[in-house]
Amino acid sequence: MYSFLCINCGGISYSSSSYDFLESDICPICNKRVKFISEDTKLGEVLMILEYLEKYDLDRALAIQTRHGNKLGEVLLLLNLINQGQLNYALNFQMKVRNL
Ligand SMILES: [Zn+2]
Repeated sequence: MYSFLCINCGGISYSSSSYDFLESDICPICNKRVKFISEDTKLGEVLMILEYLEKYDLDRALAIQTRHGNKLGEVLLLLNLINQGQLNYALNFQMKVRNL
């Protein structure tokens, strides 16, 4: 089963085939484009899908995380790259997908 996260309305839709959805990647709820996330999508990737974070900033934060062993979310907050609301929103998506 594949899950698809809509970056517009936050709706999650499911399909047994990734191909069907990739062919027409339109959210059935709001008719906007959806992006694919799975249960192993990393927090940083979710933040990028949500367009809260640029790849460049993610790489920067990951480098710091590796050196200091903090959680990625903490590093991003410390660097002011995202705010707490955005972090919660992204974590919430991750949780939803993992609990399918
Ligand atoms: Zn939608």
